[in-house]
Amino acid sequence: MSDNQSATAQTTPATIRFEDFGLSADILRALADQGYVNPTPIQAQAIPVVLQGRDVMGAAQTGTGKTAGFSLPIIQLLLAHANTSASPARHPVRALILTPTRELADQVADNVKAYSRYTPLRSTVVFGGMDMAPQTAALRAGVEIVIATPGRLLDHVQQKTLNLSQTQILVMDEADRMLDMGFLPDLQRIINLLPKQRQNLMFSATFSPEIKKLANSFLNKPVTIEVARSNATAENVTQIIYKVEEEAKRQAVAHIVRERNLKQVIVFSNTKIGASRVARELEKQGLKASAIHGDKSQAERMAALEAFKQGGIEILVATDVAARGLDIAELPCVINYDLPYNAEDYVHRIGRTGRAGALGDAISLVTDKDARLLVDIEKLIKKQLAPTELAGFVPHVGHGAHGGEGREGREGRARRDEGRSGYGGERGAERRPRRDEERSGRSERNAYAPAQRKEKIDPWFLKPYEPQQPAPVSALESGTPASKTSSAAKPQKTKVAALLGGMPKR
Ligand code: AMP
Repeated sequence: MSDNQSATAQTTPATIRFEDFGLSADILRALADQGYVNPTPIQAQAIPVVLQGRDVMGAAQTGTGKTAGFSLPIIQLLLAHANTSASPARHPVRALILTPTRELADQVADNVKAYSRYTPLRSTVVFGGMDMAPQTAALRAGVEIVIATPGRLLDHVQQKTLNLSQTQILVMDEADRMLDMGFLPDLQRIINLLPKQRQNLMFSATFSPEIKKLANSFLNKPVTIEVARSNATAENVTQIIYKVEEEAKRQAVAHIVRERNLKQVIVFSNTKIGASRVARELEKQGLKASAIHGDKSQAERMAALEAFKQGGIEILVATDVAARGLDIAELPCVINYDLPYNAEDYVHRIGRTGRAGALGDAISLVTDKDARLLVDIEKLIKKQLAPTELAGFVPHVGHGAHGGEGREGREGRARRDEGRSGYGGERGAERRPRRDEERSGRSERNAYAPAQRKEKIDPWFLKPYEPQQPAPVSALESGTPASKTSSAAKPQKTKVAALLGGMPKR
């Protein structure tokens, strides 16, 4: 990419308006419906470049407005082909947007639908875990923009319900996540199905060497667009580090929620078991909390998310994978109950707050044992994060009053003391640090190595789709994209959610 152009935008001059990009009146009307006044920095940078037909490598987290940054110019470009014919042949797939998860696919599809609502362009979303029939019907009717997770997309290609031979624009959204989830082979298969002559847009929150390698392999002289320095954290997020003893962390979360009168907060736990325990304990303390993680059913996760969005739940305790791609408007605060094993996950986590220009707080609870993880994060974001005391917080002694917190807390500590690393709550962990990481203290991501990432991957969320008949334990239970294995390949993994407590009682 030697002749890359590069653009870095931190702020958008208030004078830039959507009208300035030459977008059609139909698109501008849809934007007015959304209440958008000015483009965000990534939109200001990306829209003109995409309209020129250039390839783009965008360094942007979810929450920066990147979806409109690529959707709006795509809709504009495709308007040249827009028509109201009933013939499917007049509506070939011209733009393909790939996302790592169903949730993100759904969100992107909602946005595309909203922005194109006054145009004759058609769009649809295909992802796994859903009946294929309605998706097939939509594809057969003809659709210009398809938003998809990789596995289900390949299912449709295989069943010949989808033809990609006229696709002129490819978007890879959250490319880093797709690599993490082991989708590289599926991505390569999909790329091979597309015409050679096409426009490629790739967006990624982080720019690891493997992302650059992928970019080099399929982008053509891309314009690099950054809304903030690579791997830097959003400037409108205030990062706060509180030193708290492991046993007192759950009380500390309750204290913070009450002191700050938080009505919507995501608490990140490194483990599924940890997430359930924290949610249960907060419920015992009279707070409205629920856990979402890979041992919860799709229906439970959706219900918890909906309740959270509607205000029925104040605290969503989530693992990294479960929280991926969630777009919750105006989330004022996230709390890292555990520091993530991987410094890049810290960037993703705190990107849940401070979205689209709003202010947010990212609070992390750390113990002495987290020092090394904190150093990793500081190196990545190039910023010092000094731990402070949590003012006014006096942990109760004799944690038995808190529903077994003492016992569980001690167990947690005992487990950590067994190992050298101090990484908490290994039982039920979504990912243990690799041995080399433990030794070096660095959470490096070396090359595409799905096998090494398996333990990080939470089966439900890693699975972009589930084969239809029978509804299965999928290949992705083992971290392998489902298109590669049969549903009979692996026995049903024991679901422990029932043992852990699920949805809130109220
Ligand atoms: P995204 O990063 O695409 O997930 O967008 C994050 C949030 O910002 C979404 O809720 C969008 O609806 C919102 N958003 C996107 N563009 C704008 C804009 N120009 N002005 C205000 N909000 C926006």
